[in-house]
Amino acid sequence: MQNLLDLSPDGLAQHFAALGEKPFRARQVSRWIHQRFVGDVDAMTDLARPLRERLARDASIVAPAVIRDTTAADGTRKWLFDAGNGNAVEAVFIPEDDRGTLCISSQAGCALDCAFCSTGKQGFNRNLTTGEIVGQLWHANRTLLRDGAPRPWVDAGRAPITNVVMMGMGEPLANYDAVVPALRLFLDDNAYGLSRRRVTLSTSGLVPWIDRLRDDCPVALAVSLHAPDDALRDRLVPINRRHPLDELMAACRRYLERAPRDFVTFEYVMLDGVNDQPSHAEALVERVADVPCKLNLIPFNPFPGSEFRTSPRERVLAFQRQLMDAGIVTTVRRTRGDDIDAACGQLAGQVQDRTKRRLSTRIPVVAR
Ligand code: SAH
Ligand code: SF4
Repeated sequence: MQNLLDLSPDGLAQHFAALGEKPFRARQVSRWIHQRFVGDVDAMTDLARPLRERLARDASIVAPAVIRDTTAADGTRKWLFDAGNGNAVEAVFIPEDDRGTLCISSQAGCALDCAFCSTGKQGFNRNLTTGEIVGQLWHANRTLLRDGAPRPWVDAGRAPITNVVMMGMGEPLANYDAVVPALRLFLDDNAYGLSRRRVTLSTSGLVPWIDRLRDDCPVALAVSLHAPDDALRDRLVPINRRHPLDELMAACRRYLERAPRDFVTFEYVMLDGVNDQPSHAEALVERVADVPCKLNLIPFNPFPGSEFRTSPRERVLAFQRQLMDAGIVTTVRRTRGDDIDAACGQLAGQVQDRTKRRLSTRIPVVAR
């Protein structure tokens, strides 16, 4: 049984070629699935009955099962999806006046073990499949359409989700082979049709894979920086020991040769007394000096057992001011969906209680 959500645009074309069908059939089916969000081949009324019967027999359209669906007071909505074996992953919808953003997950757990991240604390479980990654977007669009909240762009015929950020659970570049086909579907005109600047991939800095992404499918890039120097970053983001800051900054510059935006977004989580002092801001200005960038300061979201505290608001604003004065566009992330734990770093798929596994040796390394 072929899950059609697992197939990239090329994969779908090959699948239909193997069935002896013309390429336009693949595009037609793609539009039914990824633009009209149908979950049943029978609903594809413009396909000849024999093809529909064949697809009904051999193919399926299956997104991960929803365990929980919660909406916060501010409209932020979180889906908890079953990832099997007691694991779950989350996707978060963030409504704004002019856009609908979906934050999606790429792995159940994460092996990279950043010191301040609750996903990291649960260890690595497994990579999501392309179908499970795409399924989050498919399900969110389908559900939001069904629920029919008023959104001007939906009235104009566009899908509820206009922007996708890979900032949920997991390190997307450590699941490259499943993530890239998903990105291709997000961009494809016969699927989600999003422009490359409306799709953002966030990475903790897997340098060789940043280069591959630039060549294969350059979307907007966000890099989790969190520290201006190697000593501190080694502690907060352990992958830094393998790919230190000089290497990472060089990769960002190379990425910008092909990126859909002319800047990289650096994410910087504000940890009280750890990385939020004026000296850190000063060092940060130096560190990013030759990378066209924007900075996004993220108030730390505490979770049970976390060893850090959130920087006081005044310190975050002072840090922001210092960067702005040095000419770096710096925003402070607004906290959304507080009452449903939907914020960055809180996505922990809380259905499990497992011994954490650290598989840092399994982080794939590619030849340059
Ligand atoms: N693995 C990728 C993408 C997922 S994490 C990455 O690390 O970039 C998305 C963002 O949330 C990252 O910038 C991450 O550092 C940040 N984050 C993780 N835990 C957090 C927490 N407890 N509070 C605030 N931000 C957090
Ligand atoms: Fe993994 Fe990102 Fe969390 Fe680090 S911050 S442990 S890379 S999900």
